[in-house]
Amino acid sequence: ASPDIYTGELHDMVPGIQEDLKRLARTKHHVAIYIANGHGAWEAANTNLFSTGDHALALVTGRFGEGWAQSAEALGVTVRRLDFGRRSPVDPDEVARALGEDRDERIRVVLMTHADTATSVRNDVAAVRAAIDRAGHPALLAVDCIASLGCDVFEMDAWGVDVMVSASQKGMMTPPGLGFVWLNEKARQASTGARWRTPYWDWTPRIEAKQFYQRFGGTAPTHHLYGLRAALDMLVREEGIEAAWGRHERLARAVWSAFEAWGDGDGEAAGIGLNIADPAFRSHAVTTVKMASPRATQLREWTKANAGVTLGIGLGMAPEGDPAADGFMRIAHMGHVNTHMVLGALGAIEAGMTALGIPHGAGALSRAAEALA
Ligand SMILES: *Cc1c(COP(=O)(O)O)cnc(C)c1O
Repeated sequence: ASPDIYTGELHDMVPGIQEDLKRLARTKHHVAIYIANGHGAWEAANTNLFSTGDHALALVTGRFGEGWAQSAEALGVTVRRLDFGRRSPVDPDEVARALGEDRDERIRVVLMTHADTATSVRNDVAAVRAAIDRAGHPALLAVDCIASLGCDVFEMDAWGVDVMVSASQKGMMTPPGLGFVWLNEKARQASTGARWRTPYWDWTPRIEAKQFYQRFGGTAPTHHLYGLRAALDMLVREEGIEAAWGRHERLARAVWSAFEAWGDGDGEAAGIGLNIADPAFRSHAVTTVKMASPRATQLREWTKANAGVTLGIGLGMAPEGDPAADGFMRIAHMGHVNTHMVLGALGAIEAGMTALGIPHGAGALSRAAEALA
């Protein structure tokens, strides 16, 4: 049933949601909630930070870093990109160098992705903050945690992040439809001059609402808020965020162990392997894998048709229409996942490889089980 939007339960519930959202991001500052998806959260941050003609530095490690850069460019922001390719994390030294070259300090914001869901790289946010400080540059640091929040360790205040964006449907375990922007005082001060700050996207009334409707720029997303309350209960209050980080790390390691075993021996002929070589830079939320094209696509189709397992398509790993795209796929292990789901998915993948005659190394499922023991 629809709740009363003017008084009562809904009004009582929202302050606690905002407190728990801050707990999730490890910040004592502010959070603004939008009725939006991740693209909306990008735009919410951009409109509060930029005026036409401003400059930004975008650190690109996959499709999503590129997406945020394009979102800013559409507002007339001049975006310099540092592109680290599809298999490597951000190199903080290059960030320091690029900021050092910006002698007039025109770069207003450094935009980066924590975990890029396309490549499954996880970038070292604290190291980027250190690089900005080393360069003595005043740019704000804005981080996309849409894939990683609630899965990968993230410390907004301790890492010196000024703005962070996320959305409800990944690690936050709530249907798509809510976008979030966390911000500190420095970002709030900096936003006062942003000319793109239109009434709906302005984060100010959302974080210091005098009337309830101002928190949402209109009618609250009533049922999404009940879903979010339940998800935050599970994540922040029942399991606890540190335990959730540990669970995602264990599940990720199980997936990596399986693919490492499949890629050994006979699997070398099939080109099976993890996209990101260094475990320190692999996301705990999603894993991108490769195998000789078109094996990845065939395997996805098999598990979907025969095992009830939908694997992720390769995203932005090869140009559109290039047959190489059929050599990539992704395993999601974000949000509401547990041991039996991951072992089930891995078992289905092995069944698919066997059915399709894809050569693969032995012992992967035992290796995965060991990683979870
Ligand atoms: C999913 C995702 C987005 C886009 O979110 P939408 O809700 O699809 O608009 C942006 N960045 C990252 C890292 C994502 O994983």
